[in-house]
Amino acid sequence: MMKCKRCRSKAEVQIRHHNAAFCRPCFIFFFQRQVQRSIEKQRMFTAQDHVLVAVSGGKDSLALWDVLIDLGYRTVGLHLALGIGDYSHISTTKTVEFAHRRAVRLITVDLEADGLAIPTLARFTNRPACAACGTTKRHQFDRVAFENGFRVLATGHNLDDEAARLLGNVMHWQVHHLAKQGPVLEPVHERFARKVKPLYRISEYETAVYAFFRGIDYVVDECPNSVGATQLTYKDMLNRLEAVMPGSKLTFVQDFLKSGRPAFSPGTDGAPQSCEVCGMASFGTLCSYCRLRREVERAQDTWKVPRTASGSGR
Ligand code: SF4
Ligand SMILES: [Zn+2]
Ligand SMILES: [Zn+2]
Repeated sequence: MMKCKRCRSKAEVQIRHHNAAFCRPCFIFFFQRQVQRSIEKQRMFTAQDHVLVAVSGGKDSLALWDVLIDLGYRTVGLHLALGIGDYSHISTTKTVEFAHRRAVRLITVDLEADGLAIPTLARFTNRPACAACGTTKRHQFDRVAFENGFRVLATGHNLDDEAARLLGNVMHWQVHHLAKQGPVLEPVHERFARKVKPLYRISEYETAVYAFFRGIDYVVDECPNSVGATQLTYKDMLNRLEAVMPGSKLTFVQDFLKSGRPAFSPGTDGAPQSCEVCGMASFGTLCSYCRLRREVERAQDTWKVPRTASGSGR
């Protein structure tokens, strides 16, 4: 029988890269303590800060929010209803239910109701859905944080996400991205919040176990647009490496932060200006989100002219 490292009772989960096994209560304790250590060691935020937590309805972000609530941090959730069919509807339902059950405040931005659902943005601008989605998320996270006075924004990115992103950046030698990749991103614009990833040392497997042990009801399906994403290929590869050499992912990310990152320079983009329309950070007169919206409006206007002309009287 495998025994719990902490209390010697029967273990329920084995964490190979920590060379440890735990019973259910000890794993929950171990998981939460790891998150707390990351927060403190990387100076992400303190118990006095108001933290906006981006929650998609998936296991990582809900596990993160769950831990932060339990650890006594002051949090408010932020959920974007992206308008990606059933996937989005289920995600929103799970998130709202979680907030209700834990009696915590949730801010929901309904992009679909605003006519800015991701499929609409993608269709009218000929962009890949994930590109439109990335621009939307960045903008909405920053905007809501700013408008509600949050100085810290936390996301549920885990070790697998960080390792895959690192591998992608290395594969293409994205030196400026490498200079900035990490668990804490300090604001470079007056309207930006500090962005933090408290789960960056915790594997996807661990968050799945945590969510299961805690009875968190999350959306199990992946976004339909994630199928075939390069990121998944990288994750696959890293998982194969991890199976042969437990601890590879953690070493890759931690050693990068310690020895790799200092070797890269952040580039000479300079400080961003402010968008003329929305006031958020921009390079140029409009921010990328306002540019995206303008493109959508233009395309819709052009398409509407013949439609109304031929459709009149019906
Ligand atoms: S897979 Fe793409 S479209 Fe789906 S949530 Fe992620 S970034 Fe957005
Ligand atoms: Zn135990
Ligand atoms: Zn703007």
